Amino acid sequence: MTVQDRVLIAGAGPVGLVAATNLVRQGVPVTVLEAGPALAEESRASTFHPPTLDMLDQLGVAQPLIDQGLIATKFQYRTQGGLIAQFDFAGIADATRHPFRLQCEQSRLTMILLDRLRDHPGFHIEFSSPVRSATQHGAGIDVIVDRGGETITHSGRWLIGADGARSAVRESLGIEFEGFTWPERFLVVSTPFNFLEAICDLVSVNYVADPERWYFLLQIPNLWRVMFPISADESDDVALSPAFAQSLMARIVPGVSNYEIAHTTLYRVHQRVAKTFRAGRAFLMGDAAHINNPLGGMGMNGGIHDAMNLTARLVDVWRGTKPNSELDRYDLQRRLVTKEHVEKQSIQNKKNLESQGPEFRNKLTEIAADRERTYQYLLSVSMIGSLRRAEELG
Ligand SMILES: Cc1cc2nc3c(=O)[nH]c(=O)nc-3n(C[C@H](O)[C@H](O)[C@H](O)COP(=O)(O)OP(=O)(O)OC[C@H]3O[C@@H](n4cnc5c(N)ncnc54)[C@H](O)[C@@H]3O)c2cc1C
Repeated sequence: MTVQDRVLIAGAGPVGLVAATNLVRQGVPVTVLEAGPALAEESRASTFHPPTLDMLDQLGVAQPLIDQGLIATKFQYRTQGGLIAQFDFAGIADATRHPFRLQCEQSRLTMILLDRLRDHPGFHIEFSSPVRSATQHGAGIDVIVDRGGETITHSGRWLIGADGARSAVRESLGIEFEGFTWPERFLVVSTPFNFLEAICDLVSVNYVADPERWYFLLQIPNLWRVMFPISADESDDVALSPAFAQSLMARIVPGVSNYEIAHTTLYRVHQRVAKTFRAGRAFLMGDAAHINNPLGGMGMNGGIHDAMNLTARLVDVWRGTKPNSELDRYDLQRRLVTKEHVEKQSIQNKKNLESQGPEFRNKLTEIAADRERTYQYLLSVSMIGSLRRAEELG
């Protein structure tokens, strides 16, 4: 079999399609193999951080996404008793062209990207094509796809595994997914209730600390999402019952107890990072490479940062302007910042919200009162800090 001059990408999620877009626009042909019959529409990530929007702008898709989302310039930490501290992304306007978080469903991004890619001569996508395995040889890599019971082989020069947390590419390469699963699950309740009217000083992004049951209150276009931890001794059936959701929601606004609930989602939460992000001609990125709890909204954002990092290097190697060893820097930079920043920060965010003592609250009020500490804090939560750290690694 001849090696086709293409990059193969497993998975048409936000990370796979960002990678495809950055390659195709720079003349590198791509085939995307997607397991589903169409793009996924489920409700998942809804926060785009400032540097991610800067990257999407390079691809020409930031503005169409902003047009469909909600701009959140501020975020708050609160307790049931009220505000602890508020932060404003205007404080880092010198470090980003988008000094705000954009609240918008990830499915909006994948639709915009596919729309742009569809007619590009260097782009090809096959749906209902789950990747089963990958085999490397000298000049390329073969990927086995199962299509309607038939086994098909695709060949390419490089393979990107952007096929999500249960990545078949990662499995096939025998790469360990090190880490742990939290005992509690997270329940997300979506409601059209207008919390901004009910709680006068609220903003669109609010973390509410509580040692018994913290929650996260987040506005997206037309809905609010409220996320609660669900302890291991509460069964799935109980956790998903309308009465249980109402009992949790009743704690938010005194006197309001019967919410209109649009939908509820219960899911397990993991903290795992792949042992390597590169194995020869294959790479892992996005959820295939790392998963974390959603506090801080770093999973998809980190995945998009992976995609931009690797594809910039792949373009150079493809054109012959840099040697293959350039690609090792992807693993070096992205794996390290995933461990140092995304993993550590998301674990710390969870611990902070459930902490018993006043230390976390005191620390936040101190940071909010100090201009330089606020600046550094905003660089960190917006993930600009992790990108700067990656650059320092050379
Ligand atoms: C409730 C919730 C809220 C979240 N909120 C945020 C947030 O605000 N901000 C944030 O940054 N992150 C958030 N995340 C995490 C975010 O959703 C993920 O990090 C993101 O979806 C990862 O994108 P991906 O493209 O790597 O993987 P996915 O979105 O999982 O896409 C993988 C794609 O690969 C396909 N696929 C799977 N197996 C195969 C195969 N064998 N062959 C071919 N294709 C395959 C799938 O069908 C899918 O289309 C949240 C997650 C959840 C569950």
